[in-house]
Amino acid sequence: MSVFSGPEGQRLEGNDLSAGEILRRWQCDKGAVAARVNGRMVDLFSPVSEDASVEPVEGASEEGLEILRHSAAHLMAQAVQRLYPGAKFGVGPAIKDGFYYDMELPRRLLEEDLPRIEDEMRRLAQEDIPVTRREFSRDEALAFFRDRGQSYKEELIAEIPEGEGLSCYEQGDFADLCRGPHVPSTGAVRHFKLLSVAGAYWRGSEQNPMLTRVYGTAWDSAEALKHHLEMLEEIEKRDHRRLGRDLDLFSVHEEAGPGLIYWHPKGGRLRVELENWWRQEHFAHGYDILFTPHLGRSWLWETSGHLGFYKENMYSPMEIDKDDYYVKPMNCPFHILVYKTRTRSYRDLPLRWAELGTVYRYERSGVLHGCMRVRGFTQDDAHIICTPEQIEDEILEVLRFSMYVWRTLGFSEVKAYLATRPEKSVGDDASWQTAAASLRKAIEAEGLSYEVDEGGGAFYGPKIDLKVRDAVGREWQVTTIQFDFNLPERFDMTFTDADGKEKRPFMVHRALLGSLERFFGILIEHYAGAFPYWLAPVQARIIPVASDHGAYAAEVEKTLRKWGVRVEVDARDEKLGKRIRDAQMQKIPYMLVIGDRERDGGTVAVRERAAGDLGGMTMESLRSRLDGEFQPLRNLGQ
Ligand code: ZN
Repeated sequence: MSVFSGPEGQRLEGNDLSAGEILRRWQCDKGAVAARVNGRMVDLFSPVSEDASVEPVEGASEEGLEILRHSAAHLMAQAVQRLYPGAKFGVGPAIKDGFYYDMELPRRLLEEDLPRIEDEMRRLAQEDIPVTRREFSRDEALAFFRDRGQSYKEELIAEIPEGEGLSCYEQGDFADLCRGPHVPSTGAVRHFKLLSVAGAYWRGSEQNPMLTRVYGTAWDSAEALKHHLEMLEEIEKRDHRRLGRDLDLFSVHEEAGPGLIYWHPKGGRLRVELENWWRQEHFAHGYDILFTPHLGRSWLWETSGHLGFYKENMYSPMEIDKDDYYVKPMNCPFHILVYKTRTRSYRDLPLRWAELGTVYRYERSGVLHGCMRVRGFTQDDAHIICTPEQIEDEILEVLRFSMYVWRTLGFSEVKAYLATRPEKSVGDDASWQTAAASLRKAIEAEGLSYEVDEGGGAFYGPKIDLKVRDAVGREWQVTTIQFDFNLPERFDMTFTDADGKEKRPFMVHRALLGSLERFFGILIEHYAGAFPYWLAPVQARIIPVASDHGAYAAEVEKTLRKWGVRVEVDARDEKLGKRIRDAQMQKIPYMLVIGDRERDGGTVAVRERAAGDLGGMTMESLRSRLDGEFQPLRNLGQ
């Protein structure tokens, strides 16, 4: 007889009861997809043959959802096996919000095939087929999957050390190698949707066959699924590639080279506003601005070490006067050369040097994505070079500056990630400790929530990364504040300290927005293209009702330009309603409609993109309205 105890003090005695049965007797099996027995997750159907604490794992919990999603992957594979006999299965894990399965199919699968697979999944769920678990020896498992023609599974099993056992889950005619746990029957997986089809190399290697990967999502309730699908739709609507085209912001030209961004006039206008603000803020925060070349002779990259540890990210050299030159993947070595043009004293420090530096890095073509993941981009880079005594204040200031930048740009949720010293690293203990302490202190002084990645730093120094949450709840890694104990050593950077001795300065790399291209993508998606007034490429569009309002429209345009407003006129021969709709689609903050009444009264009829009709306004009240819009350059550095 075993004794079982429940999460709320329940007790029960019995012999070989299943975990599910125990929970059922306590009436806490509702919504459970698995159980936790003495802390270990098990199937509901697995017998408990020892004294144990038994708790339900709810479908809505993080672990419960993972079990549901992994079970949904099995269900999908079973459906595929029915529809496409001879299908071979690779791996099918649960992932964030869903699952996928990699499969080799007798024919090419298209998105149009997904509803049919979904229907089959629904049929299998309705049949409520029991799921069972079987323990195998390694050799039994090999024979079992070989019999079924599952060569990918065979390959996976062959890697398991001999003598080790493994488990297999079966539901009807479908069997999968799996650790579990799983739901007790196919009927438990009900709220799912298949989302997309992609190609994926077996085990991620281009030497292996290309398998078909089907992605899906699964949830514990119809509402949760609906909510998630609505969010996916919202993300789709905000896709920066689509908005980039619809709002005429940027383009990519595959034929001229993938991963390279062309900024159109409207994107360019936004960028200029952003850069102007960026520069002014940097001056206000005590930075100087450098401009450095795009090329450097191999000497530079050998000295910096990039040709040693970063070469696969750099483009092939070009020959100039029989020497190899490389396009820069980073700006740092150039800033160091500027530092070394004169002897530096402790009185010269700190130096804060910023550059909007365009760099080029190799990325595999498969990972390129709009302007978010590219091969050429402009970093909003800076290097801080200071004495050990100054480092704490400098780091605190950089973090404050970053937080100010993110708040100004409309991102209020920021989380910090601190990465500390890895096993293999350069630099002395004392410097690492000073550096890590300054990072931690700054995070705490700013009251940021943060996580520590112990040992996750680069070999050359600890760092803080900041992630911001966007309007649809996604986290984006943006700001990096990174110490470097490597480059000052390699370039022999020194300063003369107060005691007259030559010392090594601290050097910190820092990018606030990260790269302008990627930040542009994040900004587009965060605002769904409706940029804040101060960044909007066009701030107001004047719409004259008929051709005889053209003269007054031109007058209003001239006035607005004088006020510094970015304005354009839509005098196309189109219906007024269509022109207003178009301006709305272009997400222009203000539409100024001009007809007889406005012309005769010297006013404008104002529509705001979110608030709608604001009625007629005199030019003075329009001005005070526009002046009331947020303009960070006016509030510099606050
Ligand atoms: Zn750098």
